[in-house]
Amino acid sequence: MIKLSQPVISEDTISRVGDILRSGCLVHGEECIAFERELSVYLGVKHVLLVSSGTAALHLSLLAHDIGPGDAVLVPDFTFVATANVVEFTGAKAVMVDVLPDTYNMDPEALQKTIVDWGHKEKIKAIMPVLEFGNPSAIDKYVEVSKRFGITLIEDAACALGAFEGEQKIGTFGDCSCFSFHPRKTLTTGEGGAIATGDSALAERISLLRSHGMSRSEDGLIFKSTGLNYRLTNFQAAIGRDTLNNLPSWLDKRFALARSYNKGLQNLAAKRLIRVPVINPGHSCQTYMIVLSETFSRADVIRRMRELGVEVNSGAQSMSSLGLYKHRHNYETNMQVGPHLAGKGLALPLHENMIESDAARVVDALEKALT
Ligand SMILES: *Cc1c(COP(=O)(O)O)cnc(C)c1O
Repeated sequence: MIKLSQPVISEDTISRVGDILRSGCLVHGEECIAFERELSVYLGVKHVLLVSSGTAALHLSLLAHDIGPGDAVLVPDFTFVATANVVEFTGAKAVMVDVLPDTYNMDPEALQKTIVDWGHKEKIKAIMPVLEFGNPSAIDKYVEVSKRFGITLIEDAACALGAFEGEQKIGTFGDCSCFSFHPRKTLTTGEGGAIATGDSALAERISLLRSHGMSRSEDGLIFKSTGLNYRLTNFQAAIGRDTLNNLPSWLDKRFALARSYNKGLQNLAAKRLIRVPVINPGHSCQTYMIVLSETFSRADVIRRMRELGVEVNSGAQSMSSLGLYKHRHNYETNMQVGPHLAGKGLALPLHENMIESDAARVVDALEKALT
């Protein structure tokens, strides 16, 4: 079976984790501080704060910006539910903006229109675009909109560690940026995440919120604010540190595999049986998702592919279609693309353990399954 995703943890890393477990220094400590420093150098950003998940990163980013009841946050219609869920858990409303059919990212025109036409009582406090599957596309437009309207930009870069636009890494464009280290992402610590920001005051607030509002002084602990516990552990950070060294070569590999999918799938695309994603340099290729034409039942295709030895799955969900985010805007706006991608998107295997011939096998299986 060619698996959809398969995290790679080296034997060296496993033995390093063993050392840390034997040392007894388990929670946030030296390994975390070193990993934060290495990530900040890698991204080219002043501060990186490790947290316990990508969801925690998003939640703290909203809290640190004082987002709560009476506020609205604009999120893409097509994403993983965490993006919209965290907004609701602050007491603010998650408001959806449709995405583009070829990049799967939030449509910058629709984003601007939503802000300009906004007639609801909530104040739009932040925009939280997702760099879907690691696609950096339109990040400069989001920055432009955020500046023009004076609205905070929080990047949901959960899938986009290693993605870049021009010379600049994703994770350095917004007021702050959130990464996930779940096993499905480009770098994993099991569970884990990080927030990157160039704003020192914001980093200080996030650091307090992450750890009970607590800081250390010469007189011992002081409690400066209310807070949560969203810390990462030292042994998870050790996994992240080791895998960060491999990340550039893994990203090259992911990119090459995605490009060979694009090539191999040309036939099916020409017959209009599927649409393939645009993979431009800078894409971290966390997931490679094609879109099936209307005639196919995705459930059937998934079953057929499994019989042919290939694990495939849906890509992401349409927030407005879930009926969980009860804001008038979400019911009254006619979302076209998000629901379509959620219904017909098909994620193909893509991970560091794959070789080119695996990608060719996936293409063969798909040809059998669709024709
Ligand atoms: C994975 C993901 C998250 C959540 O990250 P976790 O580490 O699983 O909490 C949030 N947003 C997007 C777009 C994701 O893909």
